[in-house]
Amino acid sequence: MSFRQRAVVSAAIAFCIFTTNHLTQSQSRFASTNPAGLRLTNAAPAPLPLPDISKLSELQKAYLDSYSILSQRNRCSEFFGGAASISALNDLISQLRPSHLDKQIGIRMSGETMNVTSAATGLSYRLFAKAEVNLDGPFYLANNLPSRQSIPRVGDFGPSTREARVAVLLHELGHLVRKPNGEYLLPNDGSDFGISRDNTDRVIAVCGEQIRQLHNTSFEAEMLIAMQLPAVDADTAVTP
Ligand SMILES: [Zn+2]
Repeated sequence: MSFRQRAVVSAAIAFCIFTTNHLTQSQSRFASTNPAGLRLTNAAPAPLPLPDISKLSELQKAYLDSYSILSQRNRCSEFFGGAASISALNDLISQLRPSHLDKQIGIRMSGETMNVTSAATGLSYRLFAKAEVNLDGPFYLANNLPSRQSIPRVGDFGPSTREARVAVLLHELGHLVRKPNGEYLLPNDGSDFGISRDNTDRVIAVCGEQIRQLHNTSFEAEMLIAMQLPAVDADTAVTP
């Protein structure tokens, strides 16, 4: 990071609740292929430091999965603006702290926001003052205990699955990254469960194919590929 000043924009709040399901097919259409058979973009922000595979947390695994998807050329990464969107993903992951929230919430971002522009990629995005990953929601809890209250699915992905966790992260990323016209990829959902479900549906409609293919790739392979990608300088600057 080079320098970072806070620029207060709003006190928006984004609750994210995941319950509905939807899926559409997407199609990859790019050329560059690495030895593992995965299509790559030319450059991506370097991955955050990660421990040995055996010590990866569920959050770190979900990050690695998301990094893998966004660093390749596919319909999902295109939706997020390409591998440059990893700048925003890296910041979000670095911000996340565990919390105890309503069981419907996977991740909650709240508080004031600041605008960030990646000096390396030109990607403009925002960050919320606070980002919490819910220990009591679908990111971590499954419905495998009779005594436990029902944890909502994430789209059509069961709670506490590899697929659900990636869908949760990508949903949040959609609140941070802008379209070329300046709007955010996903509208704020605040405490509106309906809009939140629509946002999750949108993410899965675009990224469902990549998410469903994750089981074909080990975390070891993802990490190896991430380390071999040509990296860009991930320095960021804040705009007023
Ligand atoms: Zn949301």
